[in-house]
Amino acid sequence: MSEPAIDRQRLSINQIVKSQLDVAADLIGLDESMRLLLRMPFRSVSVEVPVRMDDGRLEVFRGYRIQHNGARGPTKGGVRYHPEADEEEVLGLATTMTWKTALLDIPFGGAKGGIQVDARALSQRELEGVTRQFTRRIALLLGPYRDIPAPDMNTNQQVMAWMLDEYSAKYGYTPAAVTGKPIALGGSLGREEATARGALFIMRDYSRDTGVPLKGGRVVIQGFGNVGAHLGLFLYEEGAKVIAVSDAEGGLHNKNGLDMPALFQHAYKEHKSVWDFDGGDHITNEELLDMPCEWLIPAALGSVITKEKHAKTLDCKVIVEAANSPTTPIADKELEARGIQVLPDFLVNAGGVVVSYFEWTQNLQQEPWTLEQVNRSLRNKMTQAYDIVRHMAEERGVPWRTAALAIALERVAEAEALRGGR
Ligand code: GLU
Repeated sequence: MSEPAIDRQRLSINQIVKSQLDVAADLIGLDESMRLLLRMPFRSVSVEVPVRMDDGRLEVFRGYRIQHNGARGPTKGGVRYHPEADEEEVLGLATTMTWKTALLDIPFGGAKGGIQVDARALSQRELEGVTRQFTRRIALLLGPYRDIPAPDMNTNQQVMAWMLDEYSAKYGYTPAAVTGKPIALGGSLGREEATARGALFIMRDYSRDTGVPLKGGRVVIQGFGNVGAHLGLFLYEEGAKVIAVSDAEGGLHNKNGLDMPALFQHAYKEHKSVWDFDGGDHITNEELLDMPCEWLIPAALGSVITKEKHAKTLDCKVIVEAANSPTTPIADKELEARGIQVLPDFLVNAGGVVVSYFEWTQNLQQEPWTLEQVNRSLRNKMTQAYDIVRHMAEERGVPWRTAALAIALERVAEAEALRGGR
């Protein structure tokens, strides 16, 4: 297993997000003061996260909670545990959450949290310690009408349960303070697979409108976390051929299509690497991105499709951005020139926060929804956003990302202006 981890150019997510903002702001003629306001986070907090490790040593990690904009509602966004989750990355992701919630028209602003830690190296006890210490230090920023965390990379329902427990110890039982919780603690049916299901709805709509086939279509997925694994399974059920997948260890290829139910069990349920799965040939993450296919789905880290790498060589019809900011702005231009469609991250991967919104409303109203109700409402939300983005892109003759961002920006700017008082 000498496969290198995903190789990336050093453009930060925040740099990517900022440069995209300017393009969309120009399109709608956004004034300079609003641009100034939206480039900066409302509040950015950095905390120490001390934890007693299993061997008795004290380790101190760095944690962040950044609230980008709350004009449209309480700020909302996940918490990721990753060595690269520094202030710059978390700010870029918090900003993306502002666009995501605005585009999907849910009553939230954008925030993100992160701890700079290699979660895979932590024991369950250490993970709990990190989570509790972090939550204690940011609890004063949180609340169902202030800022609501959720899972993101390397965090899950259990992590949310600990966060809720810490928050409730301080402020009393408040299920709406955290989303992505276990069902037994007030979580929503369908939340765990919501991001992947939302992406599937976007792909279905796009396939119907353009003829790029889902049934029999070749799919390549980079990343096998919550989103990559669930989406791979859904696409298999849809009749697509998932010909390659990868995780940080490396990738697996089978031109006849991988056995996704078995791979899902092996890698997602049993937490093993896709690399160890017997059912395909080994490939590197770099080879994977250039594999000929109809649908290329980056579902791991940011900045993996760059001017230098893959923008000229990848060989798909559509890039479905399940990850946040996988494509750099210059790569975007190259892809546009090559006629490769890019379905942007804050449209494609919005399903998670949409169902977080449903979870929050279920908690506030103290009335659980059925899975059918959750999935139907998710489909409506995703399809509405898909339709307006497509319409705007066609009407203005701009890439989908620019169109989506312009719509989101207009909504946030309107709310900011109506609140006034700056
Ligand atoms: N972490 C997910 C995202 O980036 C979900 C956020 C949420 O549910 O608040 O969209």
